Amino acid sequence: MQFKAIIGHENVKKRLIKSVNDERISHAQLFLGPEGGGNLPMAIAYAQYISCQHKMPTDSCGECPSCVKFQKLIHPDLHFVFPVATSAEVKEKPVSANYIEHWREANLDEPYLSLAKWQSKIETGNKQLLISKNESESILKILSLKTYESEYKTMIIWYPERFNIASGNKLLKIIEEPPSKTLFILVAQDAEQIISTILSRTQLVKVGRIKEEDLQSELIKKYDIDTSAAHKIAHQSDGNFIQAQKLIEHSELEEEFHELFKDWMRAAFKGNVPALIVWSEEIAKVSYGREKQKQFLKYALHLFRESLIKNYGDVEMERVNNSEEGFLAKFAPYIHGANCIEIIELFDNASYHIERNANPKILFLDVSLKLTKLLRVEAPVGAE
Ligand SMILES: [Zn+2]
Repeated sequence: MQFKAIIGHENVKKRLIKSVNDERISHAQLFLGPEGGGNLPMAIAYAQYISCQHKMPTDSCGECPSCVKFQKLIHPDLHFVFPVATSAEVKEKPVSANYIEHWREANLDEPYLSLAKWQSKIETGNKQLLISKNESESILKILSLKTYESEYKTMIIWYPERFNIASGNKLLKIIEEPPSKTLFILVAQDAEQIISTILSRTQLVKVGRIKEEDLQSELIKKYDIDTSAAHKIAHQSDGNFIQAQKLIEHSELEEEFHELFKDWMRAAFKGNVPALIVWSEEIAKVSYGREKQKQFLKYALHLFRESLIKNYGDVEMERVNNSEEGFLAKFAPYIHGANCIEIIELFDNASYHIERNANPKILFLDVSLKLTKLLRVEAPVGAE
């Protein structure tokens, strides 16, 4: 991880680089800031910079043997401690070392890692992730080794909030009398949850929220969205890149579903069977995946529900966005008391069968043909 891959925080980067070049590397530091602000990638970039063999004024070189290993998170002098729990894979006394392969994968995949993502990555269910006292023993063991290739041995501890008191106290002793050339970087979100004695022995490096304009330009660069959309998302996500990613994925998917739904309804209205066959083949493609097919059915149900609300209900209850609004104005009159129950049943059944591995091509075509009939049912007299 190089500094340039981290969004914003230019002042923090400058200060960290200066401290290395001035040879003022404090042996225990606390990188404090909210999840999604970048404190974890910042810690890794800093450790990479310290170990880089060809340091540049604003970043590590990215090419020396040390950087190459750091970029794969396999440098022998780089160690990680993070919260874990038991799982089908690790049945007792879980420690970070048990999950290091998953850790590398998760971080290389998403340097702005969230605890929730991490939990689903290691499939520990709802168990609380912790740094246990078994972990402090393994920390001691690691620290007793001499460095292999670098001047410094670096230990990055993610979520020190998750230390229990016993393991925290052990860590404290180590921090108080650290082996020489050892660097601890605690990467935390919430200073109040860290044992105060640990807190008082670390040097604070604040990696706060990402500035709105920095986040905005990153979103434009990375997702190729227009300025106003990027501005809106940057604002809504409050300087949190993880949150921004979630918002983007959600809105992209909704847009895709909306287009798919419109095409479908157009063909169904016309009773255009060849078009319905093509449409069903499209959504049945393996690349689409059952999970997404299910989500699409859910989305379709949402639009049917909104149509009913539009026809009979209270405008205040509507939960639609602008592009849906325009479409629903024309579509809603076709969903009414004489067909809505059958339509909802049709979609519920379809979800049920998709989950049980029905052939999606046959299933979606079947739903399409039934829908063609249902949409032609006339509204009961008296309804709008
Ligand atoms: Zn390098």
